Amino acid sequence: MKNCVLAACFFCVVASSSAFAQNVTDEKAMPYLHQGALLIRDDSKKAEAIAAFEKAMQYTLSPKNESMALACLANLYHETDKDKAFEFLKKARELDPTNTNVLAPLGSAYAQRREYGTARECLREYLKGHPDGQAAPSVNRLLTQIDQIEADDALLGKINKAVTSYNEKNYREAIEILEATQKGGEHAHKDKEQEILGLCYVREGKYKAAIECFKAVLAADPKKPAIVSALAGAYEGMGDLKQARECLKQYVHMDSKGEMAVAAKDRLPVLKKVMKTAGDIESSDYFQAVSKPFIKRWSLTRMPLKVYFEPADSVKNYDKAFQGSVPKALDLWCKATDGKVSWTTTSDRAEANIEVVYTDDPAAVSRTQSHSEAGVCEIKAGGQKGAKIAGINHVVIKLLTTDDNGKAFTAAELEATSAHEVGHALGISGHSANPNDVMFFAATKNVKDGLTTRDANTLKYIYDAVVYDTGKIEVPGRPDPEKHD
Ligand SMILES: [Zn+2]
Repeated sequence: MKNCVLAACFFCVVASSSAFAQNVTDEKAMPYLHQGALLIRDDSKKAEAIAAFEKAMQYTLSPKNESMALACLANLYHETDKDKAFEFLKKARELDPTNTNVLAPLGSAYAQRREYGTARECLREYLKGHPDGQAAPSVNRLLTQIDQIEADDALLGKINKAVTSYNEKNYREAIEILEATQKGGEHAHKDKEQEILGLCYVREGKYKAAIECFKAVLAADPKKPAIVSALAGAYEGMGDLKQARECLKQYVHMDSKGEMAVAAKDRLPVLKKVMKTAGDIESSDYFQAVSKPFIKRWSLTRMPLKVYFEPADSVKNYDKAFQGSVPKALDLWCKATDGKVSWTTTSDRAEANIEVVYTDDPAAVSRTQSHSEAGVCEIKAGGQKGAKIAGINHVVIKLLTTDDNGKAFTAAELEATSAHEVGHALGISGHSANPNDVMFFAATKNVKDGLTTRDANTLKYIYDAVVYDTGKIEVPGRPDPEKHD
């Protein structure tokens, strides 16, 4: 609702010569009042009309006539000096509360100042005095508009509150607010409502609902690259990589120099690769996808792996609650290997097999310009050229405490990142295309606490695999993958 719709002009009702009452005290002023009342009708004589009324005001005037003269002056000034006109109208009402001719323009002026309560009061009082007055239809329209604007302001207030909640990562709170405003049907801030609701749904892992929201925004205005990019993220989250790629391509096409374009361009080949290597996302493991061109794993002679945790208390946004994430992840993955892989802590960095480092600098964990990773796993492995197996020698896991926008990650987010990076650290050197898996290639809220059977089986098979000198790989107990085709 734009404010300018309130700029209704009701001044037609105030000026006429007979509006001024003959009064003994006003004798000297009367000729000027009459002159002003005549001149006011002629648009080309505004200056003379102002001069006449101002001259009249130099003499003693009864409150009624002074009120009327001020109303006329307000009329003459209302286009060139709104503040002056407003002051005149207020004074006119004070001097003569029965001068209902002042009430319509004054109500309109209050409405333009967003003082809706007083505006309503003036306009209703006008209608009481002039139920069939010339300005009555406009006054009624204005009253309706004020109601709409107030409702609109209240709605915008709620949506802004949801934006604050979203920024503070109170996604559930934001969703609650926006699902309520959504029930109110159409309104002027639908796009904002649907955008923030969609972003919150993504954060809560409700990808289908998020997609609906983003589609609604784009249906109203397809030229919103940020929404196309968000839609790509939602498709990615639910594992619809084909749609995610389509949206990303569309995004890059729309906004090739935009702030997310670098990330999108990095993402496209990743999606392509995952789609190509993922295999059947319903099968009981993704061993094929992560064992080519060779298997990467720790030698069992190194067990238990020694893990060094770099002190992190001074890292910005590091929270004590993060402390348990990596140990929990190590326990889960080790258990999946039936204890073949095990770990212990060490306080001596030099003897560590795995180092765990926290940082608040997105650039430090990013393999790409776009800093889209929340963690990274740097693996040093070695093997003979062409061999089907490489031994992992050393790993550094870097975990981010702070996202790209400078906000702290939550303990739950840290836990998901830790589970993923530890999977890499222990030997999974690729990704799953199933969004329920911890090793899904993108951060997603589908991941439940713990590993999926596919995650657990995959690492188990990596350590169960028997690699022959001929290059043949046998995995005892692994179902024949042909069966799944
Ligand atoms: Zn990864």
